[in-house]
Amino acid sequence: MADLGKPQNTIAILQKYHFNFQKKFGQNFLIDPRVLDKIIVAAGITKEDFVLEIGPGIGTMTQYLCENAREVTAVEIDRNLIPILEDTLHDYENVEIINEDILKVDINRLAQEKNNGNPIKVVANLPYYITTPIIMGLFESHVPVDSITIMVQKEVAERMQAGPGSKDYGALSLAVQYYAKPEIIAHVPPNCFMPRPKVGSAVIRLVRHEKAAVQPENEELMFRVIRASFNQRRKTLVNGLNNSPEIPASKEQIAAALEQLGLNPNVRGEALTLEQFARLSDILEQQRNIP
Ligand code: SAM
Repeated sequence: MADLGKPQNTIAILQKYHFNFQKKFGQNFLIDPRVLDKIIVAAGITKEDFVLEIGPGIGTMTQYLCENAREVTAVEIDRNLIPILEDTLHDYENVEIINEDILKVDINRLAQEKNNGNPIKVVANLPYYITTPIIMGLFESHVPVDSITIMVQKEVAERMQAGPGSKDYGALSLAVQYYAKPEIIAHVPPNCFMPRPKVGSAVIRLVRHEKAAVQPENEELMFRVIRASFNQRRKTLVNGLNNSPEIPASKEQIAAALEQLGLNPNVRGEALTLEQFARLSDILEQQRNIP
């Protein structure tokens, strides 16, 4: 089958099947072989690997994955794309196509069946509106994941990679960095897709930490503290946390915790590192346990 990374081959397939793009599924197909090669290299795909691809579209990246991986499972929600995928991937014996919403797939079972429960590589050019639920779902459900290499909206990639003090730093940065090391691999302009999206995109690789980056006593409380700190970004941390019904501490207790951490009483959440958020939540947890 012809390389779908070449625009003329993608156009030929779309015409052959009279394919209508579905906006609701965020369908923007990649048509740039250089970007496809970069994704394969960044994901470090080898013939040892089992790869889960989310949203294969007409199978463009899937072709590249099949060439480089041991085995590929591609999960596509749009049933109109299934006959097309059967055609474009006809030459490959190492691919399985599943017609399903990825949010409904038991990925733990898939990793067990296809990779003996060993960490899998995930590659995706995702519809932008489901980027965060998919990534956080993969991390939080403790699916064995080695890395996730994904195309996302440029701003989302920047937020995932941002550190303290940056305007992009927030709850998403901390949630991602708790589980993984993010690295932006490439910026991808709209003309690399068909149809062209309205926004710029970026490929980001998230390599999962073997052990979470910090070990808070109460992980759930740490994330509550993080969310509350950024809900009211312009407020001081003391006021932001005090205003949140999710935080079980008085203003005095929060101020005492900041003092114990050696932080300025007027500090804002955006100045704290993940380590500091973990320690802050530990102090609040300890205060809570004092009768
Ligand atoms: N990977 C292809 C490429 O790079 O050309 C297509 C990328 S397109 C941005 C996103 C793909 O994800 C579409 O084929 C869309 O139908 C599919 N998709 C959208 N929501 C999905 C979901 N919840 N589960 C699985 N696939 C989904």
